[in-house]
Amino acid sequence: MTIIIRPDPSPYPLVGDHGQGPSTVYVRDVAIGGVRPILAAGPCAVETPEQTYQAACMAHRAGATLLRGGAYKPRTSPYAFQGLAVQGLKILTEVSIAVGLPFVTEVLDTGDVDTVAAHADMLQVGARNMHNFALLRAVGTAGKPVLLKRGVAATIEEFLLAAEYIAQAGGEDIVLCERGIRTFETATRFTLDIAAVPVVRSRSHLPVIVDPSHAAGKRRFVLPLAAAALAAGADGLLIEMHPDPAKALCDGAQALVEDDVLPLAAIMGRAWQAYDGTLGERAEPNHAE
Ligand code: PEP
Ligand code: MN
Repeated sequence: MTIIIRPDPSPYPLVGDHGQGPSTVYVRDVAIGGVRPILAAGPCAVETPEQTYQAACMAHRAGATLLRGGAYKPRTSPYAFQGLAVQGLKILTEVSIAVGLPFVTEVLDTGDVDTVAAHADMLQVGARNMHNFALLRAVGTAGKPVLLKRGVAATIEEFLLAAEYIAQAGGEDIVLCERGIRTFETATRFTLDIAAVPVVRSRSHLPVIVDPSHAAGKRRFVLPLAAAALAAGADGLLIEMHPDPAKALCDGAQALVEDDVLPLAAIMGRAWQAYDGTLGERAEPNHAE
């Protein structure tokens, strides 16, 4: 009798890297996972048409090809600003057309997926919902690319399995986003897990971008983390900015300001030099270490 020993089947057959190489996700004509890293930027929350437009102009000047902004906000306190909902989606749509950037926005509830998908170019599943399997399935059927953020206490394995839920539901255009995890450290809001970038790249064909804003929690730390993320091989950055952070209704302390626009543009401009593509190549079928 011959015993055939097969390798373990991949835990994530759809999002795992099985030797097919990295994939590119298109948000309209913006390629994520292409040769050049992308910048998605804008306000944490849509507050007013003017504030959203001004933040979008800052994003554009920094080199963003994607606008971000929250119409539905997942807030720790039920008394905090929860977002403008459909009115926010309308503002985002108008600003997106005015500045010529497609936009990504978060959806919190399965019941809102169709409405958000009718307006947005890309749906975001936030860190707090990474384990919301009903929502993962719902965005997987929405027909729009999905930006999936890592949960604050999720392992990389759990992160990839969450992406697998979306892919299994039919949404294979997924971009992963490392945004910091909770550790004992309190100097920053979360601890940016830079290692997640090469680890994800070795296990999955999906593009991976980094959100230094929520990890840092403080403006002054955002740009160094942004530069580090690109040097580690991230396919892009997700960054918050605000024309007047002192008046922001959400996450003002971490919002980049006008003075940060040119330094961020410079970081994006030299991104292709920062990353040595020969480091941590993807080519590990079944994620052998
Ligand atoms: C956000 O991007 O606005 C956000 C709420 O991020 P996270 O889900 O990573 O906290
Ligand atoms: Mn925010």
